Parts: sequence; structure tokens; C-alpha cells
Amino acid sequence: MAPEITAAASPAEKTWQTHLILNNFYGELDLRKPRRDAMHELISTMLSHRTTHANEEKAYYRMRELYPTWPEVITAPVEDLTKAFETAQYPGPKAVNIQKALKLIQEKSPDFSLLFLEEMPVEEAMAWLMSLPGVGLKTATLVLLFNFHKPVLPVDTHVFRVSQRVGLIGAKVTAEKAHTILLEMLPPEAPVLFNFHKHLYWHGQRICTWKAPKCEDCPLQILCNYYHEVRLKGLG
Ligand code: SF4
Repeated sequence: MAPEITAAASPAEKTWQTHLILNNFYGELDLRKPRRDAMHELISTMLSHRTTHANEEKAYYRMRELYPTWPEVITAPVEDLTKAFETAQYPGPKAVNIQKALKLIQEKSPDFSLLFLEEMPVEEAMAWLMSLPGVGLKTATLVLLFNFHKPVLPVDTHVFRVSQRVGLIGAKVTAEKAHTILLEMLPPEAPVLFNFHKHLYWHGQRICTWKAPKCEDCPLQILCNYYHEVRLKGLG
């Protein structure tokens, strides 16, 4: 019989068990069909920084309504593009970065197809995406995992918070470093990484919320550091 997992298990064991428990809790997701095309994923994720999903979508679709093609977005007056992005946080810097990024994409791929990323080795694809203004680790990994099924792991604020509370990563680990640490503890298989990302994201939104985690409803109690060290001791 397999030993029962506890909060004292190694981070690697806890990471795998977290994956299995949340797969069971939320149901396993199919990675085959991307939720949106690669350019949409890239530009929307650039808009999403410190912005709710609903407001990111409003900004993206307002831009598409005013400027239906990418060359039109590039040549739009930056103040008008900024206005189109007004539902997003930091609309001005985002408008500037998106125009610059689109110009660089056009130089590499005149029809704005990102399909060339499919053939690129992961490190090269990450480096190319992150050379675009306004594109960081989270955005690059999201595009490469969701659209090209590369073995990378996006870590957003929810994935990061749940991972720290459960004890998959240490309290001093940065979000940037968490991308590598968590990735190294999981098999390099896109469906596993996709489910891990989505499930921790949902978990952080619905149960392990920032202000008041609903530990009483959580299937991760048994292995969670926060639950044992804070909640059970009445400290939070
Ligand atoms: S037990 Fe509580 S702190 Fe731990 S993952 Fe669940 S909700 Fe978050």
C-alpha cells in the first residue's frame, strides 16, 4: 500500500500529489484544442498584467473592433490605442509595448503567424518571445504551453500563492524562480503541466484565495503547510 502523503513529505512528492489530487477534484483537462490562437493568446496575456480576465477581454476586443488587422494596430495613433485599452491597467505602456512587439513579429513573420515557434527548441522559443517588449516569463510560457504544447510551466499569482502555502516552494522563492523549481519537480509532459497550471490557477481563484483561504473545503489539507502550521494552530 502506498504511504499516505503528509505535510512533511518532500516538495517533489507533494507537487506530484497536488497534481493528482487536483486532477481528481477539478477533472482532467484536454490540452488538444487551444482556447485562442497564438497571436490572441500573446497579445491578451500582455494586456492581462494586473487586470481581470473580463477587463483584459474588453481591451482586446475593443482593439480588434477599431483595428481589425495587426498592421492597423501598428500604425494606430498610440493615444487612440491607449484609449482602446482603458479597461486594462497601464494602458499607455501596454499600447507602446504591443506596437513595438507587433513590429518585431512582422519582421520575423510578415503574416503574423507564430507557427515558426512550433519547430523551435524550447529555450530558443522562450528567448525569442521574451525579447519582445512587455513579454515576460509568464506570457512566454503561456503561449508555448497552451498553443505549442512545449514543456514549460506558467506561474501566475494564483499558482505561486497556492504553491507557497502548500509548501511546494519555499517562502523566499521568487515567482520567476518558481517557474524553474516547479517545472523540475513535474514530468516534462505538456498535458501534466497544463493541468497543473490550470488547476492551481482555479484553486487560487476559488478556494485558496488571497485573503481568506477556504481550507475547510480544500482537498489539499492533508499535505498543506499553511493548513497545519497556521490554520490548525488558530494563527490565521
Ligand atoms: S488547505 Fe488552505 S491554505 Fe492549504 S491549499 Fe487548501 S485552501 Fe490553501
